[in-house]
Amino acid sequence: MNQKPKKRKEVEAVDVPDHRHCEICGRVVPPNERYCSPKCEEKAAKERKSMERFRKIWIAILVAFTIFMVIQILLRLRT
Ligand SMILES: [Zn+2]
Repeated sequence: MNQKPKKRKEVEAVDVPDHRHCEICGRVVPPNERYCSPKCEEKAAKERKSMERFRKIWIAILVAFTIFMVIQILLRLRT
């Protein structure tokens, strides 16, 4: 008979209570908080804004490039 080996659930050696780290400085913060201080929150907001701007610029470049390519293809098709 093939007996199923009893797999003992490995106990993860995590004694630390539920927590997370500040997304900016990495300090431990309560699980319902994202940042350790308003300063970090402000920094995060600023970073997100610059990221958004960066993304918008990237999208604009991609769109411009795509339009440029389409025009190139159209011009090539004509001749
Ligand atoms: Zn922080």
